[in-house]
Amino acid sequence: MKIVVLSRARNAAGAAQPTGIKITNLPKSGNQRILKSTLAEFRQFITQTPERITFHASDGDIRFKVNWPPGRFCLTCGEELPDSRADPFSASCREHVKKHGNKAEKSDKWPDGYRVSYNSYDCTLED
Ligand SMILES: [Zn+2]
Repeated sequence: MKIVVLSRARNAAGAAQPTGIKITNLPKSGNQRILKSTLAEFRQFITQTPERITFHASDGDIRFKVNWPPGRFCLTCGEELPDSRADPFSASCREHVKKHGNKAEKSDKWPDGYRVSYNSYDCTLED
């Protein structure tokens, strides 16, 4: 996904500001990682709820369903686990996954049984 800034205007301080966006190169698979920094940069063109991120582009709204927000989450039960500041060595994350015993879900991508993302939302394009 690429966000194209359509035009810029200068604010009172003389800084260039985007006045509109167009979104190109939408993911064919429908899956998209959206960086927190992107949301911050284009926040005046975005409506965000815990379930959905909507880009208000010049040619219409582009909606993404949020599958996973940033953070650490158990693959088995979906519970949010302590972040790296609270649990720098992931001990409580491993302890949590261990509680699921043989039923703990693991994957090639997340062999420890929990997913980790600190700077992006894992999303699916809705339309
Ligand atoms: Zn769990």
